[in-house]
Order: sequence, then C-alpha cells, then structure tokens
Amino acid sequence: MKRIAVMTTGGDAPGMNAAIRAVVRTAISKGAGVFGVEHGFKGLLENRFVRMDSHSVSGIINRGGTMLQTMRCPEFHKKNVRKSAYHNIKNMKIDGLAVIGGDGSRRGAHIISKESGVPVVFIPGSIDNDVYGTDYTIGFDTAVNVGLGAIDKIRDTAASHERVFIVEVMGRERGFLALEIGLTGGAEIILIPEFKKEAEIGRICSVLKAGIEKGKDSSIIVMAEGVGLSNKFAERIEKRIGMEARYTVLGYIQRGGSPTAASRRLGLTFGYKAVKALLGQKRGESTMVGIQANTMVVHSLKNVIGKERKIDRQAYRMNEAFSI
Ligand code: ADP
Repeated sequence: MKRIAVMTTGGDAPGMNAAIRAVVRTAISKGAGVFGVEHGFKGLLENRFVRMDSHSVSGIINRGGTMLQTMRCPEFHKKNVRKSAYHNIKNMKIDGLAVIGGDGSRRGAHIISKESGVPVVFIPGSIDNDVYGTDYTIGFDTAVNVGLGAIDKIRDTAASHERVFIVEVMGRERGFLALEIGLTGGAEIILIPEFKKEAEIGRICSVLKAGIEKGKDSSIIVMAEGVGLSNKFAERIEKRIGMEARYTVLGYIQRGGSPTAASRRLGLTFGYKAVKALLGQKRGESTMVGIQANTMVVHSLKNVIGKERKIDRQAYRMNEAFSI
C-alpha cells in the first residue's frame, strides 16, 4: 500500500486530532504517503484531499475537535452519489482509507469498502461510547470529565438551596455517558433510555421523597438526552414533591475542550494500530480497531456492523445501592 487517506466524519470528539496525528506519522514511518480528506464523506464527494506530512499534524495533540473538520453528509446514503467518491479516491490513487467517527460513520466506511473495494479501517471516535466492538471510543473520557466538572459545581448550589437538580447530558439514544457521569459524580438518580421503568415520574419522586425523609437536603439527577426533556421533568417533580427543581442542559460543552490523557492515548494507540492493520489489508477488506478488556483488538467490520453495544447493567444497579 503506497498511499492512504484519513478522515473524520459524524460528530467530532476530543482526541480525534491525536488519532489523525498517529495515522499520519505511522503511515509516513512505514513509507506510505498520506492525504487528509476535509469535511468527512462530503469531502470525498467534493475532492477535498490535502497532502499531509509529519509537520501538518504538529501542535494538534492537545486540541479538541478535528483539524480535518467533519460534517454530516446525508447524500452519502445514495449509491449513485457515492460513485463520485469512488471516482475521486481512484483518481487520487488512494489505496487505503482510515475513517475516524461514530457508529453512523462506521456504516459509511463499510459500504465504501464493499462497493469500491478500497480497504478501509474504522477508528471509533465518539463522545457517546455507543460503538459495538470496543469498550471505549475516543473522546468519551473527556466528555465524562467535562460532565463531572459541571456536576461538582452544581452540587454546591443544589446543597445551598435545598433543591433537586437535573443535569441533562448528551448520548443520543443511549445512556453510556449519563451512566458514567452519574455514577462517578455521585448522582442520587440516573435516568437512561436502557432503564425505562426507572425513569417513570412516580418512581423518581418516591426515591426523592425517601431521601428528604432521611434528611437529604438536595439531590442530583443525571439524565440522558434520550430519556426526554429535563425542563419537563423538573416541572413535574416540583409539582409532585413541592421541592424546588432546576435543570441544566450541558449540551455542546461536552464535546469541546482539551482531550484528557486517556482520550489522547486512545487516539494515538487506535491510530497507530489502525495503520498497521490497514497496510496489511486486501482489496474489499474492512476492519475496525478497538479496545476490549484492556487489550487492543482488530475486528473484521462485517462481524460487528449493526450490533448494539450493551449497557453495563451492574454499574446502574451499583449506583442504586449507593444512593440510599
Ligand atoms: P456518527 O458517525 O457520529 O455516528 P452519523 O450517524 O451522523 O454520525 O453518521 C455520519 C455520516 O455517515 C452520515 O452523515 C452519512 O454521511 C454516513 N452514513 C451513516 N450511515 C450510512 C449508511 N447506511 N450508508 C452510507 N453512509 C452512511
């Protein structure tokens, strides 16, 4: 393999830059040329290839976001549109592609290798941690720590005013981020889409009431965005138990900021491992890198695509035990 291209797609995540740096420098060290594709799949359609050398990834390891930029690209779902991407890849003599992104990007990556034959390696990067085949995605740890910082601050004001505070965090349809932030932030209640019964208003209020009876003067609820709107929950709780309930939506704050050591390390290791895998791949072969039980793994994409990562049910129950 003489020439590879690297791109970031879907939502950005802190640590993606570390992965880009690792891909570029590993490829160069192995004697391959590298191009970056700007704006994700859209950039493939628009021929936005930029030559990368080791200097082009200097000074980015500590920066959040992605230097190659990313965009959602709905038109990539259309087969006839994708054909122009394959034409551009061929024209640029790219013989391997590294795609950094979330679960949606993985589907796009798989289709590219199936239809065009270009070998593809997928690198999981997402603050949501919702990618089957890896225990962690690049950026998750940073987003957890940003959420924790917010909870620690909110706790001060919640305690001073005898309030219930709902903190709504990202995660799309899944609760990985909310569970981790809630557990490590010491939240009384965690509401996630995977535990629907536990998110019923009657049950939430009885847990809060039991806390008040035991002398708790404030409570923190961490809620995943996939459960509903935190302002509505706050209104209903206030009506039912008569305690002031406030909400905060963390939103895009969680995506930004300098990546933690763990997010950088994952980006670097994934990037390195991905290039090593890609250089050995045959035409039509697509893989992904991941970390499972503290060990780096390389999966064939066809074995992992479309599968759903399971939530850690024990962690959820553990938090219930702690919030008595
Ligand atoms: P993420 O990668 O963060 O999960 P998305 O779900 O938005 O983000 O997916 C990113 C992009 O991947 C989409 O904008 C689209 O271009 C591409 N994509 C997702 N699913 C498919 C699919 N089934 N076929 C082709 N492209 C897809």
